[in-house]
Amino acid sequence: MPRPPRYERQRAGRGRAGTFAGGGAKAATPRPKPICKGQQRLRLVKARLLGKFALSPGCHLANVGLGRVGASVDGILSAGTLLSAPLISVFAAPWQREHFLFLAANATIAGLIYYKTSGRPSIRGALRYCLPKRLFFHQSAVIDYKIWVINWILLVALTPPLVAIGTGIFKASDFLFRLAAGVDSLHFAVTPMWIVVATIANLLATDAALFFSHYAMHKVPILWQFHKTHHSAQVLTPFTVNRVHPIDMVLTSVTGVALSSIAGAACVFAFDVNPTVTVLGLNVFQFAFYLLGYHLRHSHVWVMFPGWVGRHISSPALHLIHHSADPRHYDRNMAQIFTFWDRAFETLYLPQSKEDITFGIGHGEDDDFRTLGDMYFRGFRAKGKNL
Ligand SMILES: [Zn+2]
Ligand SMILES: [Zn+2]
Repeated sequence: MPRPPRYERQRAGRGRAGTFAGGGAKAATPRPKPICKGQQRLRLVKARLLGKFALSPGCHLANVGLGRVGASVDGILSAGTLLSAPLISVFAAPWQREHFLFLAANATIAGLIYYKTSGRPSIRGALRYCLPKRLFFHQSAVIDYKIWVINWILLVALTPPLVAIGTGIFKASDFLFRLAAGVDSLHFAVTPMWIVVATIANLLATDAALFFSHYAMHKVPILWQFHKTHHSAQVLTPFTVNRVHPIDMVLTSVTGVALSSIAGAACVFAFDVNPTVTVLGLNVFQFAFYLLGYHLRHSHVWVMFPGWVGRHISSPALHLIHHSADPRHYDRNMAQIFTFWDRAFETLYLPQSKEDITFGIGHGEDDDFRTLGDMYFRGFRAKGKNL
């Protein structure tokens, strides 16, 4: 079939992509109307709803709580898109911990460990090692799957109030910064150094929120009743991360939204934009943390980061210790990323070598948390008895 003349190809290209291709049409191209900030935000939301997730230095999704709710303004908008996202999108939404990229990266790490430790590695052996039936079909894991679905629906319902809280705190913080300084903005230049500082500051805000809400869950008796749901897992799989009571979920999410909204407002006050570096909508350091073993924190795979990194960044093995039913390990390793939180509150436990761990609540209370109903209602019933 003969190729059409060049001008026809240009017209076809213009019609398809909506871009200019012919010299004569240039003068007729309407000039885009200036749009206000509100319209810009609306366009951003629409783009995200359509799956065209915008990447920019100012696009920040602070990952908090269950890892789904952002707290800078852009993050809030991202969280809002969850409302319209089908459940299945959890594996493809960039801001999700369950994104297939993170799952694949963690599976690769587990596979490499198998390859190094197995005498005669094989594909079948690798699959058996990474996805052992005895764990993934365990009664405790089956409950995790049910909780995962229920909590996801609850989170979708919780998103509007969390968005409202985040927006309110962001605006209040912004107002207070301006009131205290007497200027609308510090107008700092966004230099590479400040980009790094802002990115780390936003990460610290999120990490602090996760540590302090977790610390409160362990140390405040009434909150511990609900946190037992998470610790009642007898086996750990990546689904166990969402084995949390709704009260646990709300506390963690609200704390995260609050702190990262304040950090986001501080950045906007200082630089007019939030210069946090993001990848797929996540703080770049959080993104790296998710890639490098995050899902192995709830697994049968023991991973301890080496040397200095292992002492200052929470290895997956530290969270396995956190789930131990051994009294030596009670209330240890509550930090998510940086171990200095635990060091400061004397709750750090750095294992010298691999330890055999029995997972559970301990305290002789494991049999109280065996059914799906126990996971959601035992905390309320146990209140009066154990406080
Ligand atoms: Zn805990
Ligand atoms: Zn856990």
